[in-house]
Amino acid sequence: MAKELYKLPALKYGYADLEPYISEEQLRIHHDKHHQSYVNNANSLLQMMDKAREEGTDFDYKATAKAFSFNLGGHVLHDYFWWEMMPAEKAGKEPTGELSDAIKENFGGFERFKKEFSQVASGVEGSGWAALTFCKDTKRLGIMQIEKHNVNLIPDYPIIMALDVWEHAYYLDYKNERGKFIDAFWNIVDWEELDKWFRKMQKV
Ligand code: MN
Repeated sequence: MAKELYKLPALKYGYADLEPYISEEQLRIHHDKHHQSYVNNANSLLQMMDKAREEGTDFDYKATAKAFSFNLGGHVLHDYFWWEMMPAEKAGKEPTGELSDAIKENFGGFERFKKEFSQVASGVEGSGWAALTFCKDTKRLGIMQIEKHNVNLIPDYPIIMALDVWEHAYYLDYKNERGKFIDAFWNIVDWEELDKWFRKMQKV
């Protein structure tokens, strides 16, 4: 079987299309530099491990496992982040379909969900993410607070939506004001895409 590597996904919108909520400069650096570096690092680690296995040599197993988890987590979460956004003028501003029903059922309403999710995001210590998840056992939606890209993830809880609150996600636009970035995010969510993803995740 051919061994493949990770690839930086193309954005489904232009770099300036999320303005004024995310500037072109911010989006370019975030996607082309930060996300690319997680892809490159994950691939380098894979290639390093391939080589060591071919040659029968050792590598630092503990450090490699940790670095791989961090970089691959970064790649996968950014992938979610890019496709769940869309230009504000086309964005619906509120959840639709089954996801909308599930948000009402689980949180009591969209406003309450928004408040809880925003607070989880603003409360991330240092670098991390807030993520909306779906528990297949209890059929409940939940909100996860991820440290870095890979700490506090719960196995078997698929991610429906993830918000990057690393400083690199917003510093050029909002400086230290993470709350302003979180408020801005709600204007550019692609709820139809998230509803499709939510329906798919219930079936896997
Ligand atoms: Mn990021």
